[in-house]
Amino acid sequence: MSHVESTESTLSTLLEKQGIRPKLLVVDDQPINIQVMYQIFAAQYQVFMATSGAQALEHCRTTPPDLVLLDIVMPGMDGFEVCAALRADPTTCDIPVIFVTAHTDAAQETKGLEVGAVDFISKPVNPAVVRARVKTQLTLKFQSDLLRKLVFLDGLTGVFNRRYFDQQWSIEMARSIRSKSPLALIMLDVDFFKRYNDLYGHQCGDDCLRRVALTLKASLRRPADLVARYGGEEFACILPETTFEDAMQMASDLEANVRLLAITHEHSDAVGVVTISLGVAGRSAKASCDKDSLLALADAQLYLAKHAGRACVRGEQITHSGGAA
Ligand code: GH3
Ligand code: MG
Ligand code: MG
Repeated sequence: MSHVESTESTLSTLLEKQGIRPKLLVVDDQPINIQVMYQIFAAQYQVFMATSGAQALEHCRTTPPDLVLLDIVMPGMDGFEVCAALRADPTTCDIPVIFVTAHTDAAQETKGLEVGAVDFISKPVNPAVVRARVKTQLTLKFQSDLLRKLVFLDGLTGVFNRRYFDQQWSIEMARSIRSKSPLALIMLDVDFFKRYNDLYGHQCGDDCLRRVALTLKASLRRPADLVARYGGEEFACILPETTFEDAMQMASDLEANVRLLAITHEHSDAVGVVTISLGVAGRSAKASCDKDSLLALADAQLYLAKHAGRACVRGEQITHSGGAA
């Protein structure tokens, strides 16, 4: 199998699995050049176009493409400047750029690679060569996207993992303090889960955790809400810009939805089906508290829910600099 064929099959497998049609952005001040690229790629990819550097940057920020084919010589911002600007912006820094240029010399190529391009193609383009090179770069792009995603997912349940939770919790707490908006955290734990494993076996225990995780994920309403597996049979939900009252309501919904799964648990002292206990900690818009103290508060509330008989919600809110209210 040739290099091109093997790259092709890896790319199609990757994309088929994810149901993706890659997006290419072609940037050139000469519409005729864009036309040529369009004809080469339109059958396989979604092709977008920009005729200036400024337009290209705007496009990348609002509709990030999977790859940019970038002309170097353009009036106004040239290709080098566009590439450097893409690299400097965290929202566009992972988009690969291939320079397409009429004058290739070593100095230009070196400069292009220095500002972060992944490849160089010379004009007039050879369709077979440009197709193969684009495919190679797209494959690398999708492979690294996938890796970035897998690093943050829990292997058993498919929800976010502890590593992602820790990262997001820091980000959301900082954002909440900066924008003076409320923030809530729900910590929850499956009740009598050791007994569940002992009675039905570890395999059924794993299935149960998967179903609970999916239910939690499906129950969250806003795009910014997230659920992560915190460890073992414990999960955590971050609810940005959510008042304590709304978080308490969400926790009750989560409790009800897991109970509605009706997963038989004959050795539960709670209600005969699998249930969860939940602890809610809220930070009002003006409270001063850090991420560790809010996490500790949610944990303490979860402990109270366990001691109150399980399958229930307990919560507390920090409303001022002095602490809980
Ligand atoms: P409580 O109601 O107080 O939370 O009791 P519990 O039995 O749920 O809590 P405990 O901490 O005593 O036991 C947790 C159990 O969860 C023990 C452990 O084997 C099980 N567990 C943790 N992770 C997994 C997993 O990935 N798969 C399975 N099947 N079981 C797990
Ligand atoms: Mg438990
Ligand atoms: Mg536990």
